[in-house]
Parts: sequence; C-alpha cells; structure tokens
Amino acid sequence: MTFYTPPPRDPKAAPVRINLLSDTQTRPTPAMREAIARTEVGDEQIGDDPTVNLLCERVADLLGKEAAVFMPSGTMCNVAATLSWCRPGDEILAHVSAHIIAREGGAHAALGGFQITPLPGDDGQFSPETFRAALHPRSRYQPPQTVVSVEQTANIGGGTIWKKAALDEVASIAKANGLVTHMDGARLLNACVATGISARDMAAGWDSAWIDFSKGLGAPVGGAIAGSRDFIDNVWRWKQRLGGSMRQAGICAAACVYALDHHVDRLADDHTNARALARGLSQIHGIEVQQPETNLVFFKPEGAGVSGDKMIAELRKRGVLLAMMDGRIRACTHLDVTAAMIEEMVGFVREIVRGT
Ligand SMILES: *Cc1c(COP(=O)(O)O)cnc(C)c1O
Repeated sequence: MTFYTPPPRDPKAAPVRINLLSDTQTRPTPAMREAIARTEVGDEQIGDDPTVNLLCERVADLLGKEAAVFMPSGTMCNVAATLSWCRPGDEILAHVSAHIIAREGGAHAALGGFQITPLPGDDGQFSPETFRAALHPRSRYQPPQTVVSVEQTANIGGGTIWKKAALDEVASIAKANGLVTHMDGARLLNACVATGISARDMAAGWDSAWIDFSKGLGAPVGGAIAGSRDFIDNVWRWKQRLGGSMRQAGICAAACVYALDHHVDRLADDHTNARALARGLSQIHGIEVQQPETNLVFFKPEGAGVSGDKMIAELRKRGVLLAMMDGRIRACTHLDVTAAMIEEMVGFVREIVRGT
C-alpha cells in the first residue's frame, strides 16, 4: 500500500488555485473564525472548557453514545481507542488499506504491542464472510482477537460507503465472537449525507466511533470519539498519557461546533462536485475513473498515454494540487472547491492528454 508523500511547498511553483490534495486542506471560513473569536473557553484538561464540553455532548448525541471526548486528531482517536480496548499481544482486524495499518506510523504496534490482521476485499471493505473466516477459536496459541475496525467511508477504497446491512452483520458476528467494534468515522458524515442514514444509526452496533472535524467539515483541528462512559474514561486516561489533554481547547472546539451547525448538509455539494469531476474525466478517452460515492475521486491516466506522475506535475504547473495514492491519482472535493474549479480541472486534464 503506497500513500502519497505530501509535496513540500515550492516557493517557485505556480500558486495553488485548485487544491484537490485532501479534504484536510480546507481553511477556516470567515464565519468560522468569528465563531472561534467569540467562544467561551476554560481549562479542557480539568473538564472546565464550556465549548469543548458542548462539543462532546453534541458528538455523543450525534453518534448515539453515552459520552464523547475531544481529541487533537483523528489518529489519536484511533490510537486511544485501541489502547483502551486491547492488551499487548491482542489482534485487531481491519481492511488491508486501513488508516490504522498504513498511516499511523505503526502506533498500534509501537505503543500498544497489538497486531493488526489485514483483511482483503474490494473498495476498502471486507465482506462479513471474510471477517467470519478470519476468526479463530480462543486458544493459548493464537492472539486474542479483540477488535474489528471499519472505515466509514473507506478512504483508499475510493471514499466508498459501507452499507448499513454489512455494518450490522459485521457487528453482530463480532458480538457473537466476543469482539469489540470500532468505527473509524473520519468521513462518517459524508456517508450519512450521501445515504440519508443518521450517524446514530450508522454507528449503532459499534462500541466506539469517531468523526474528524479537520476533513470535509472544514475545521482546523480535531476529532471526537464516542462510546460508553467506561470506555470514554479509559480514552481520557490515554489522552492524558499521550499528551493529548489540552487547555483552552474551546478555541478549536468552537470551529467544530460551528462545523456541525453549518458544514454537514453542504457535504452534498462536495459529492455533487465529485460526481461532476468523475463524469468529466470519464469522457476523456483513456482516463479510467472509479465512480465516486462521496467526495473522493480516484483515477488513472495511463490509458490516455500520460503517467500519473506526469499528470500530477502538469496539473501542478496549472495551479492544481493533487497526489498519487495507492497507484492512482486521488482528487478530494471539499469546502474550498467549487463547481467552476472542477470544470477548469477537467479542461486541464483534456489539454494535458491532447498535448501528448
Ligand atoms: C484522516 C484519516 C484519519 C486520521 O485523521 P487525522 O485527523 O488526520 O489524524 C484516520 N482515518 C481515516 C480513514 C482518515 O481519512
């Protein structure tokens, strides 16, 4: 699994006008900055920041759990969750392309001593049958299988949406076999907006679930993880141990509350733009495009006689920033990407293909 290395800022390069690198590239809007400036703050670490507390209540309610905790990043949500659920030597099951395997610096092994079994499957998802087949009876020889983790949406799978029925089936197999269920919901709300299924319903059956605010929701920092009160107590301990407890974090949480109020429904616009991009690209002879279900568009230009690296470099010259991910180019739509930019981007790709 090869991921992109974020390109260093090159002062001589053309300014970036169309930033499709990631939905983390959003900048806080003027209204979000105002909400940040206005918010009340306190000491988060001792539970005294009113804005953080409000955010945690909102997220617990949104995900239908007893409690939630604000974290500096989505990665820390995943790491604190597995550290809370597992003991050294335990086994976690996840799709081979999962963020916890490929993008967290080996944290789950380095800090917890856990092994993650990569499960195969199309589009970033494993089937309930694959999951069932990977389970083994408890014995002194094999690692205790403790957690099954899914990504909603599946990032490298193409921003694909786990169907509610598949989530329910995986969760019920997990329960029947004594495993805990964990949902990496970095883009859960994209799945909810695309399907009309509530976050609470999507996360039902999942013992821990979290959402990221610094992706499509457009906040500068943070994620929040939810679960039972006992679980959240454990996560708090790990947050403290990992150095993730903060002070006047209401400055950050204010942006997240603002995002919940103003930036959820509009994710539909990102999905519309992603579909428009995929449609435009697929009309260019030789460009191979995966049909997007949410805000991520993966495509391969080789069939049009242009290598992925060449395409990225040529687009960069025209002020478009994106990168390769797992052998394909990934374009992310988000708050700062307009329909006009998508049209321009398609025009550039056509021009680059024609120029070869
Ligand atoms: C971005 C992402 C994370 C990590 O979130 P950060 O806030 O960047 O630490 C975890 N899982 C998935 C699927 C992601 O896309």
